[in-house]
Amino acid sequence: MPPLINNELCIVCKKCADICPLDVIKYQDGAVVVLYPDECWHCRACVMDCPKQAISMRYPLSHMLLHYDAPKTIKRCDHEH
Ligand code: SF4
Ligand code: SF4
Repeated sequence: MPPLINNELCIVCKKCADICPLDVIKYQDGAVVVLYPDECWHCRACVMDCPKQAISMRYPLSHMLLHYDAPKTIKRCDHEH
C-alpha cells in the first residue's frame, strides 16, 4: 500500500520525491503525487524526511501480522505420564 500525502499539510518542498529510492513519489504539475504506488517498499524514508508530517504510511496486512517470540527456555515437564 502506498503512502498517503495530505495536501493540506504539504508545502511541496519535494523532499519526498527526491528521497524515494524507487521514484514512487514524483513532482508533477505543482504538486507531489504518488505515481507508482505498487513500487513502494515501505522504507518510510519519505515519512521521516517530510518536514510537515504530511505523509502517512499504509501498511499491507502482511506487514501488520503479529508475531510471537517463543520462550528462550523450555520448561521441563516434571509430571510422569
Ligand atoms: S516508503 Fe520508501 S519506497 Fe515508499 S514512497 Fe516512501 S520513500 Fe518511496
Ligand atoms: S516532503 Fe512533505 S511537505 Fe515536502 S513535498 Fe513531500 S509531502 Fe510535501
